Amino acid sequence: MTDCIFCRIARGEIPTNKVAESADAFAFRDVNPQAPVHVLVIPKTHVASFAQAEPALVGAVMHLAAEVARLEGVEETGYRTVLNTGAHAGQTVHHLHAHVLGGRDFHWPPG
Ligand code: AMP
Repeated sequence: MTDCIFCRIARGEIPTNKVAESADAFAFRDVNPQAPVHVLVIPKTHVASFAQAEPALVGAVMHLAAEVARLEGVEETGYRTVLNTGAHAGQTVHHLHAHVLGGRDFHWPPG
């Protein structure tokens, strides 16, 4: 989708702080970090949310998310992966993205 901000990031049209990349997914630092490690992992092709995503694309995103956790050094201590889907979950960018959050303790249930 031409005007989708995350499609533009995936195409390299908007500068980002890249963390990792695979054939189908791209990882970059969240501009408004909520933890010492806060990385977003997106599919390179446009999918509005988790609800519309094909299994293989979800797999590609989550596989890169696990790689990001290793690269960022939070695999041992633990980390949280979050997919906000729709209004009640607070999804603000309508291009599937997994948040990888780490480097601090997280509470449960989430707010
Ligand atoms: P969500 O609320 O799950 O839709 O999360 C969207 C996330 O995208 C938020 O955490 C924003 O801080 C982040 N975000 C929005 N625009 C950018 C950008 N240009 N670069 C990096 N992160 C962004």
